[in-house]
Amino acid sequence: MKPHPLIALGIAALVFGLLPLPAYWITLANYIGLYAIVALGLVLLTGVGGLTSFGQAAFVGLGAYATAYLSTAHGLSPWLGLVAGLAVTAASSLFIGAIMLRLSGHYLPLGTIAWGLSLYFLFGNLEFLGKYDGIGGIPPLSLFGIGLGSGQSMFFLIWLILLVSVALLRNLLNSRSGRAIRALKGGGLMAEAMGVNTAAMKIRIFVIAALLACVSGWLYAHLQRAVNPSPFGLNSGIEYLFMAVIGGAGYLWGAILGATVLTVLKDQLQSILPALVGSNGNFEIIVFGILMVILLQHARNGIWPFIARWLPQRPDAVAPEAAPALPQRARPAPGQPLLVIDKARKQFGGLVAVNDMSFTVHGGEIVGLIGPNGAGKSTMFNLVTGVLPVTGGEIRFGGTDGLQRIDALPSRAIVKRGIGRTFQHVHLLPEMTVLENVAIGAHLRAQRGVVASSLALDRGEESALLFEARRQLERVGLGGLLYEQAGNLALGQQRILEIARALCCDPALLLLDEPAAGLRYKEKQALAELLNKLKGEGMSILLVEHDMDFVMNLTDRLIVMEFGTKIAEGNPAQVQQDPAVLEAYLGGID
Ligand code: ADP
Ligand code: MG
Repeated sequence: MKPHPLIALGIAALVFGLLPLPAYWITLANYIGLYAIVALGLVLLTGVGGLTSFGQAAFVGLGAYATAYLSTAHGLSPWLGLVAGLAVTAASSLFIGAIMLRLSGHYLPLGTIAWGLSLYFLFGNLEFLGKYDGIGGIPPLSLFGIGLGSGQSMFFLIWLILLVSVALLRNLLNSRSGRAIRALKGGGLMAEAMGVNTAAMKIRIFVIAALLACVSGWLYAHLQRAVNPSPFGLNSGIEYLFMAVIGGAGYLWGAILGATVLTVLKDQLQSILPALVGSNGNFEIIVFGILMVILLQHARNGIWPFIARWLPQRPDAVAPEAAPALPQRARPAPGQPLLVIDKARKQFGGLVAVNDMSFTVHGGEIVGLIGPNGAGKSTMFNLVTGVLPVTGGEIRFGGTDGLQRIDALPSRAIVKRGIGRTFQHVHLLPEMTVLENVAIGAHLRAQRGVVASSLALDRGEESALLFEARRQLERVGLGGLLYEQAGNLALGQQRILEIARALCCDPALLLLDEPAAGLRYKEKQALAELLNKLKGEGMSILLVEHDMDFVMNLTDRLIVMEFGTKIAEGNPAQVQQDPAVLEAYLGGID
């Protein structure tokens, strides 16, 4: 946790609120605060989690209408209104999240547009919510008997809630859950392979973003003392997204920056433009549109990175020098069957990519699965790791408690049983540090969730995770690059990083898909050395390779595939002499 910038902003806000400034400035600051709270949710959801929502204004509306209705029609305390609003928002966002977050690609944004529109019309058509006229006469808030009727007193409350939200989200992002959220953006394949339940995580961030929007709506209702449907329509939903994107959707400060820039700009444009154009209208929308296009062309990550460049940079997550060790699973005995593939089959329509393959990997062994391009190696790999379901046959895996079927399990359950993997095409988060990337691997070895992390109750566990990541990085020889951005590493180092991440899963079996692809000769040698060292430490390894030379001196046994079928199996020297293998490699496809 790094409280300094937050405290600085808090003091600045305090001074701003206490100065005898024009009421108009305070009003502007109030709106900036309200918008920033919503935009903060979008940073988490869209910028960090990669899920686009145009429907946040609808959740703002839920928060505003819940308290407006209860405090006027039933005379309930606004604080009860807040609780009710949060409950309704949590329930509805859970419900829509469960339906919509399954949608991929453009369907999710479209779904949120539909949600935003329907709630807007609902507010406008319900008799008890005053239809399009809305609800007036909402009481002001009061806290410990102090009335918050003035704009200035609301300023303190709004900005307090905003800054506390920033602090909570910042704790969240620098945690086990936060790394899992950041891993969602890559499409989820990697996150699932590291044990993250991506579907559940998406719903969580959707609910958190909705709750923030709801709080903003509650504050709005008691600031305005009247609500009607218009600020909760699709236009506002789009504007909130604008704010996050313009400020910098990947950064918490981007939310405050974006809300400030857009609110001030809108305010200025609304007074300047009609005079310039000579008639009234929402011309600022046109300027926003142009601004957005320019931004997407030249500064995809928003304005914040340009400011952050001038600020001192410190890594968010720092590995401690020492920490309690994470629990470790018992190693399988050498020679004991660890992975048993029994007539595994995979068909893609008419194409049999894996044709009744059978083989076994034993404890403490390095086995190579080789074959020409298109032989079915990666497909075989995907069957073992649960990325693809088998069409037929069985796959069993076992540690100390015997062999168990894993062919019907999802990726995240397979890694939990002790199979760590790397990818043929490197899957890492280029903007995160090497350390944080590797720490994702240890996801299943800790428990603290979203709430505990936000409240910083996970610090002991967190330092154990970071220490483990550091230990694995030192083990593979990347100990000098802990705080480097992963995207800056050479390809060879990125592949090694993936191995360290897989080791963080505490695997009994390591599955490597073409680890030597694209490496230079020296890098290949270093990789072979590393794999031998791991084997010496008791690790079992199954590696898919295309390059015969690389596996010859490294593996104990080779399994050769061609057209989905096993054509040979044996030690490297035997396989090298096998006529069928020579035919497959020299006779053809390559
Ligand atoms: P390798 O890794 O040995 O190069 P793959 O396992 O990637 O081979 O591919 C084996 C065969 O299966 C190829 O003919 C490939 O085109 C086909 N294949 C792989 N994945 C799919 C898929 N998702 N849908 C259809 N065909 C696929
Ligand atoms: Mg492949």
